[in-house]
Amino acid sequence: MSGSTNERPVLVLNAGSSSLKYQLLLPETGEVRARGLVERIGESGSGVADHSAALEVMSTRLRHDGIDLDEVPLRAVGHRVVHGGPDFSEPVVIDDAVLDRIRELSTLAPLHNPAAVIGIEAARERYDVPHVAVFDTAYFSSLPAEASTYAVPRDLAAKHSIRRYGFHGTSHQYVAQATADLLGRPLGDLRQVILHLGNGCSASAVRGGRAVDTSMGLTPLQGLVMGTRSGDVDPGLHAYLAREAGLSLDEIDTVLNKRSGVLGLSGVNDFRQLEQRLASGDADARLAFDVVVHRIKHYVGAYLAILGGIDVLVFTAGVGENSISLRAGVTEGLEELGITVDRAQNAARSQQARVISPERAKVVVAVVPTNEELAIARQTADLVG
Ligand code: ADP
Repeated sequence: MSGSTNERPVLVLNAGSSSLKYQLLLPETGEVRARGLVERIGESGSGVADHSAALEVMSTRLRHDGIDLDEVPLRAVGHRVVHGGPDFSEPVVIDDAVLDRIRELSTLAPLHNPAAVIGIEAARERYDVPHVAVFDTAYFSSLPAEASTYAVPRDLAAKHSIRRYGFHGTSHQYVAQATADLLGRPLGDLRQVILHLGNGCSASAVRGGRAVDTSMGLTPLQGLVMGTRSGDVDPGLHAYLAREAGLSLDEIDTVLNKRSGVLGLSGVNDFRQLEQRLASGDADARLAFDVVVHRIKHYVGAYLAILGGIDVLVFTAGVGENSISLRAGVTEGLEELGITVDRAQNAARSQQARVISPERAKVVVAVVPTNEELAIARQTADLVG
């Protein structure tokens, strides 16, 4: 065995039902040794039968790149798990009981947790090191009761663990701290609204580092308009679609999760493609863009009221970090609230965390790249020592 502990990398795994995203990195420095994606797991003709086979593909690729995990062994494996339910408010070292509980939480996240379980099982078999689960919901487990409680009968809510859980928590937490670092101000002093805008989208209100509200709910379907997800709709829509369109509950779930959002409105789900259509004058693309912006403003306004004013508005994730037009749209007309961007700074291309509001603006508007893998690696390393 060679290398001191902090030269040994952490492997971060994000298992989907037919994909496995991996990153091998050093949590102290953030240095990425390798990253990649194995796709089409379990599909006929892909040659990758299951998640065990996907790990084999990964280690073959690593060896190809001169990384032999037998020579420089892993420190630990950090697993991204979407739903921690009412049980997990912190990362945990995975033992059989924890794994059973994550499996049971599949009732709350049928689209996500089963894949995480399969990924964990395959990785535990292969790597005899501590495995840690980092939950997407954990950061929001401290939401105040008035924000996490749905106004449905309390006995029903208690029996079925119904509450607002929130998702993308690892990202919101990381970005909240990174924003404080960027501004050189203590996290404890800041009231932040954070907009995580990727394929999935969520907003959070953060006071002094603690999340006090977030737009996703019991499931990752609530809130902002996303690539293929509707976000907020009238809760009566389900009953209406069942009665009027004759759709089953599963069909309604599929429509709202996979065929709605930007895709449902414009025919494309990728934001770059939406922007191309916008530029060519496509009316559906225009409406989709306007609906996305309107919904984001709705939440910015709500969180301003909940926080009693904000110090910083933060854009992150693929769309938030890169779309000049979306940031311009969201901040347009908010000057009276102290929110405005400098046109040139907003348009400047950069991979770095940066401020895009004018110098004396009341509210700082910032673009802060998220890094969920690094956050997971750090939380994993902290836990296993
Ligand atoms: P995920 O939620 O899958 O992690 P990302 O955070 O990577 O997603 O965000 C993906 C989204 O970011 C896609 O809709 C993509 O079109 C968008 N995106 C990436 N780069 C740009 C860009 N330069 N301009 C506009 N949108 C972009």
